Amino acid sequence: MVQRVGIIGAGQMGAGIAHVCALAGLDVHLCDVQEAALSNAVSSIERNLARQAGRGKIADADVKAAMARISTGQDHAAFADSDLVIEAATENEAVKREILKALVPHLSATALIATNTSSISITRLAAVTDRPGKFIGMHFMNPVPIMQLVELIRGIATDQDTFLVVKALAEKLGKTVSVAEDFPAFIVNRILLPMINEAVYTLYEGVGGVESIDTAMRLGANHPMGPLQLADFIGLDTCLSVMHVLYEGLADSKYRPCPLLVKYVEAGWLGRKAGRGFYDYSGDEPVPTR
Ligand code: NAD
Repeated sequence: MVQRVGIIGAGQMGAGIAHVCALAGLDVHLCDVQEAALSNAVSSIERNLARQAGRGKIADADVKAAMARISTGQDHAAFADSDLVIEAATENEAVKREILKALVPHLSATALIATNTSSISITRLAAVTDRPGKFIGMHFMNPVPIMQLVELIRGIATDQDTFLVVKALAEKLGKTVSVAEDFPAFIVNRILLPMINEAVYTLYEGVGGVESIDTAMRLGANHPMGPLQLADFIGLDTCLSVMHVLYEGLADSKYRPCPLLVKYVEAGWLGRKAGRGFYDYSGDEPVPTR
């Protein structure tokens, strides 16, 4: 059973995972290399919990109790008593490998490790650690407190016990599990990201403007968000990384990242988290940029 959870990476996903774990009664330690990411995560968790309380979904006392279960820091030594550490840092294989290598000496022999990667091979990440049997993909969706799904991905060496413990945890967090095999981008992003990439091509080729493309898919395909709005929400750097993993991992030219997506990432226009992507978020309402 998992009672103490460590989380590495306090960005939008790490904060969301900390939120749902603390609300479910688990002790959470959140770690990031950037002090600002930690303080932003704590304030965004508190704001989101308060919003849930405001809507009557949880009690005011739950907000206080959940916040009291969250600690933060920059040192992996704090993971010594963690039952499970969830890696939710930047979607970059080199970064994740370095994190995992640095993490394992601090863990107890029984600790499990999960990665929230959107696309990278679980088998390959597990091989960096001293415990591939205790390593699994636990792919939460954004925003974590709202989205129902957790995709679970076993690497080639993942033990059945690891799978069952992590599945029970996902269910304790109120999530529904979908099991995917360890192939590039698993199920959700294998299907979703090529659609987003195609929406960027549609923009790039001038088939439609940002607003036309998003309205078309919202009202024409009944998607709750347009694909460009969704890309901004996910983060354009994460979208581009997933497309690279698909392109390289499946060696099929149909996955080539749209040059316009590359250009936006190079410009630092990473979407909502950067204040600008396909929309400009500096005003009260997002404004399409093309
Ligand atoms: P983000 O950019 O919001 O946050 C990443 C955080 O990782 C940053 O705070 C950064 O400082 C931190 N970080 C970088 N290197 C680190 C290190 N060495 N040690 C500790 N922290 C470090 O990104 P995000 O959207 O939260 O994505 C995080 C992970 O979750 C990625 O693997 C991504 O693919 C995955 N994911 C993202 C989404 C999404 O919609 N954004 C959905 C599911 C999964």
